[in-house]
Amino acid sequence: MLLILFPRLSNGNVLWTCDNCGTTAEVLCPETNAVALYCVCTEKTRPRCNDRWYNDNLYFQRIPLEIRLRGNKFLRELHNKDNGLI
Ligand SMILES: [Zn+2]
Repeated sequence: MLLILFPRLSNGNVLWTCDNCGTTAEVLCPETNAVALYCVCTEKTRPRCNDRWYNDNLYFQRIPLEIRLRGNKFLRELHNKDNGLI
């Protein structure tokens, strides 16, 4: 699967750039740099190759549970919420 990886800024956000029109936006996404956002230029999520990875949460399923839970408060809380533990 081809993915476009965007750079991570010093504030922790991913700098998304539309591969079609060049629009940029900052995305809060600690789990992956391969984000995809809706852009008005094509009225679709760009870049298309990242769409399923990001929007169907494939990146999340690929991260082994131990790593997700190990020392990462944000992800641990997310996991607990998903599983009704909070
Ligand atoms: Zn665009």
